[in-house]
Amino acid sequence: MLAAMPMHIVETSGLTNCIVSKIDSEDQRDYLRTVEHSAESLMQVIDDILDFSKIEAGRLELDCRKFSLRECLENAVKTLQAMAHQKGLVLEWSIRPDTLDSVIGDPIRVRQVLLNLIGNAVKFTESGSVRVEVTAKPLQDRSLLAEFQVHDTGIGITGDQQKLIFEPFRQVNGSKARRHGGTGLGLAISANLVRLMGGRIWVDSEEGRGSTFHFTTRFEPVVSAQPAELLYGAGSDPDRPLSILLAEDDPASRTLVASLLKPSGHRITNVCNGLQALSAIERQEFDLVLMDIQMPGMDGLEATAEIRKRERETGSHMPIVALTAHALNGDQQRCLEAGMDRYVSKPIRPGDLLAAISSATRCRTALEAIP
Ligand code: MN
Repeated sequence: MLAAMPMHIVETSGLTNCIVSKIDSEDQRDYLRTVEHSAESLMQVIDDILDFSKIEAGRLELDCRKFSLRECLENAVKTLQAMAHQKGLVLEWSIRPDTLDSVIGDPIRVRQVLLNLIGNAVKFTESGSVRVEVTAKPLQDRSLLAEFQVHDTGIGITGDQQKLIFEPFRQVNGSKARRHGGTGLGLAISANLVRLMGGRIWVDSEEGRGSTFHFTTRFEPVVSAQPAELLYGAGSDPDRPLSILLAEDDPASRTLVASLLKPSGHRITNVCNGLQALSAIERQEFDLVLMDIQMPGMDGLEATAEIRKRERETGSHMPIVALTAHALNGDQQRCLEAGMDRYVSKPIRPGDLLAAISSATRCRTALEAIP
């Protein structure tokens, strides 16, 4: 219901546009342009609030796919080029030459963060330039860490303000911000999106001397068929989408796991505690369970022990991969003792999760082959 609202306003706005072109009176055209402008501002406010409430509810999911970093950046800059030009500002961008262009991630959300930061930089800079830069380096687990920087020669942000600006409903320079509009949610949303994308956001600034906003995101590299083989191992079909039960009480982790598994086509069913996991398994067939250890009510260790107890009667074996914030060896031991097949520690690294899933399901395939 709520999700339909921005679309409705987009249509209204388009309609206004269409009417504006058919009206003769200049006054009426002005009124309609004002209406259209107000509708657009309202749409942005509603979009921000919807995004923010989805983030708060843990419902915001990344839509990961292959995309070009260069195109994404170019596109964001182009969108704001006219606004920069009107103010007489130079808006330029660059990508370090050794940066991999083709990556797997959510281009819409990367663009959203870029638009927010570049938009702010243009709004709060009266003269000079806004410069956007991107670099990316490979990490040990083969994922990529991209760093985006937005430099401006604007009014700058004091040390006190720097601590607050990523909090919701905060705006720096009250009167100026009011003139420029906005909900004060943009940076809070950006901070959350960046976190969902496995990165962080921060600002370097000196009052009167401009600011540099930085954010990092993790992307998966685009791999050919050969590394996919490596990931999934011989004997199992690398393209087979799995039906996965995710038992996890933390909304941010649910979102992260969903975004990591989506490109492989896996279907995820979400539950929030051990009891719900048990009843989901009774109702539905799953290929694998991702089990958080700490959950309210029945935790992951108890739920796994109960699943294994029930399996002793049926002779079946559900692959279970533990997700835990405890990076201690003792915990790993407890997971395995409870009957879990594999173990992934948080913060979850994409490579680890995929490897654990593939090896846990392979382990079942092997078991099933034995009569
Ligand atoms: Mn938990």
